[in-house]
Amino acid sequence: MGQIEIQKNHLILILNLGLTEEEESAAYHEEYRPPINFNQPTPEGVVAEMTSEIGTIEYHLIPTRSYWLRMVRHDWGTTDEEIKACIVAHPQQMLEIEVCGCYKGYGVIVRDIMRHPIIAISRALDDYVSPFYHELEAVSLGLKLALKYNILKFNFTCVSEKVAAYVMWSWNSKLKCGCPPRDNLQNPGEKKYYCVECSKSELDDYGEGKDADKILPLVDEIFYNGLKLESEGYRFYLFPAKLSRAKGVLHLANSGMDQELRLDEIEEDEKFAEILYKEVYNHGTEQELLLEQDIIY
Ligand SMILES: [Zn+2]
Repeated sequence: MGQIEIQKNHLILILNLGLTEEEESAAYHEEYRPPINFNQPTPEGVVAEMTSEIGTIEYHLIPTRSYWLRMVRHDWGTTDEEIKACIVAHPQQMLEIEVCGCYKGYGVIVRDIMRHPIIAISRALDDYVSPFYHELEAVSLGLKLALKYNILKFNFTCVSEKVAAYVMWSWNSKLKCGCPPRDNLQNPGEKKYYCVECSKSELDDYGEGKDADKILPLVDEIFYNGLKLESEGYRFYLFPAKLSRAKGVLHLANSGMDQELRLDEIEEDEKFAEILYKEVYNHGTEQELLLEQDIIY
């Protein structure tokens, strides 16, 4: 008789090396039990029947939240050392860095390409400046995390279309105005060859010129770190995120707390874990999220 081994989530291997093909087939049919029952949920989850785009029926595993987090932890680890080692071991793996600034603060989520969370960080803001400025704070933190974890392949997204447009416009013009190099205050003896001052007029067009004294140093920091990442192989681009893909990061930014969450802490925060879980297995609608953003801003 063959042995059945349940691997990870839903693979079944039958090891019947001593049997004929018929015996093996009979044993397979006799012994075959889906590890996850089609109708009755098991501790691991349920299998959902879905119709694919071409009309065929597909079966997808929908794990329970705790089983899902266990799998993600298995893939990415829960400490900075484990996460860094995993990123270094898979340099071609595309990640996602999502950022969002809200009234109360800002947040960043690092995810893998399947949208499984790896790290989530939020910062509270005591002094309200503007949603535009808070979103830029989030953009800057996103790049600092990329540097810290050595992430060189990632889709970089923010929630505000206006911020994405301004950052990309000024990024693309930072070398064009011909302003002379200036000293880098953090690294005396080093010069910065790009310009942020000349994007001030663009800032006026966006209606944010009143905060230029706060915004421009932050843009300087973003560009400095963006160039540092580019020198290691990253290609800087900030995309505006669809609202339907921003529920988790909106919630995080709006928490009004200073927190650094790896997978264990994410699991402890049930509300946040549930939002992230649903983002992977059941997206919210655009309309639902528009309503949510109205409340936040
Ligand atoms: Zn200039």
